[in-house]
Amino acid sequence: MAGFLFDIFTVRAMKSYDIIIIGGGLAGLCCAVHLAQEGVAVCLLEKNTYPHHKVCGEYISNEVVGYLKRLGVDPLKEGAVAIKELHWSTANGKDVCIDLPLGGFGMSRFALDYLLFKKASERAEVRQATVIDVAFQNDTFTVTTQAGDSFEAGFVVGAFGKRSGLDKVLQRSFIEKRTSWMAVKGHYNYEYPEHRVGLHTFEGGYCGLSRTESGSVNACYLATVPSFKKSGSLKHHQQQVVSSNPILYRFFSEATPLFDAPLTISQISFARKPPVEQHIFMVGDSAGLIHPLCGNGMAMAIHGAKIFCELFVHASKTGTIIRQQLEQEYERKWADTFSSRLRTGSYIQQLLLRPFWANAGYQVVRAVPGLLKKVIQQTHGAPLA
Ligand SMILES: Cc1cc2nc3c(=O)[nH]c(=O)nc-3n(C[C@H](O)[C@H](O)[C@H](O)COP(=O)(O)OP(=O)(O)OC[C@H]3O[C@@H](n4cnc5c(N)ncnc54)[C@H](O)[C@@H]3O)c2cc1C
Repeated sequence: MAGFLFDIFTVRAMKSYDIIIIGGGLAGLCCAVHLAQEGVAVCLLEKNTYPHHKVCGEYISNEVVGYLKRLGVDPLKEGAVAIKELHWSTANGKDVCIDLPLGGFGMSRFALDYLLFKKASERAEVRQATVIDVAFQNDTFTVTTQAGDSFEAGFVVGAFGKRSGLDKVLQRSFIEKRTSWMAVKGHYNYEYPEHRVGLHTFEGGYCGLSRTESGSVNACYLATVPSFKKSGSLKHHQQQVVSSNPILYRFFSEATPLFDAPLTISQISFARKPPVEQHIFMVGDSAGLIHPLCGNGMAMAIHGAKIFCELFVHASKTGTIIRQQLEQEYERKWADTFSSRLRTGSYIQQLLLRPFWANAGYQVVRAVPGLLKKVIQQTHGAPLA
């Protein structure tokens, strides 16, 4: 009898939505705002509280500005820094500056995610909860959180980033492969040109520098684990390996850190992932991460959200949504939009980290600066309407 009452209680307590979004980074938040604007009943579940810092280069391509404005967030009005120039240096400090074809802006994830979170909270239900299970049965999803709450929805968006405990639960194949990348990020006080984003390589990695809305400079570097292990500690790695590039040496010896300690992440995977898995629509890094040196991962996460939301809204307005059709359309559109960018990003990363090719590339870019612009265009898209 007690069991029976408990079951009724559980069923009654379960809340139902059109869509549940798991993860409230840029992809999840943009989905939540977009869908809620269209009258879709949305619940977003994010494990962390806002605002919080994230390991990220914090340079965002201008291609998403129009779309962000449509969602109600105008980064430049909120203090973002307009960036027009790329300063690139090889590991031995040979450097060149070029104008960026489209340009971008510098804004901390602390600020940008928080702005979108506030927008999402106005119309959608946003809850702090860690999702531990997603089950699909009888055309309905049941999403369970660590606190023991369950939510039901017809559709689920997986926007839980490049690596989450959920990837294990869902037995996604990429999670079994070991990766050799880690990343470190911090904010610093330093005189740095406002309109510039820096990309500086060193043995086994590269570091981005750019200003944020607060006036601080974000320094974020990726390094291979073998390059890091040789030094034994973060401090030694920064002094001996990262700072072997004279430009980075100057930065790290003169800049004043603003965080008590830098933020670090490891196990960064650039493996290919299906954009739909177990009927979950993967958006943002859950669907694939481009090498950060392309400076386009955030724009891709935001663009991916737009693609999914437009397909979903269109399908729901034209009648009953046929799940299989929506999944196929999303997979096709995702691949058409992003596959070649991911491939190009991977080639560029391999070239830049090989000193011989990086130096050869430098000579070519010095002679023909337009070539680097062409390469950048290959990893970026046109402005989103
Ligand atoms: C070192 C580094 C530097 C980068 N630099 C740049 C750059 O300069 N420019 C650029 O455009 N891109 C850059 N990128 C890429 C960019 O950071 C990502 O592409 C972008 O953050 C993707 O957004 P997202 O919403 O998919 O994922 P995220 O922003 O990672 O959001 C995922 C969210 O899901 C939540 N979550 C995870 N699991 C669960 C769960 N089980 N339950 C509930 N919530 C969960 C997490 O807490 C997180 O908030 C960089 C990436 C790295 C690794």
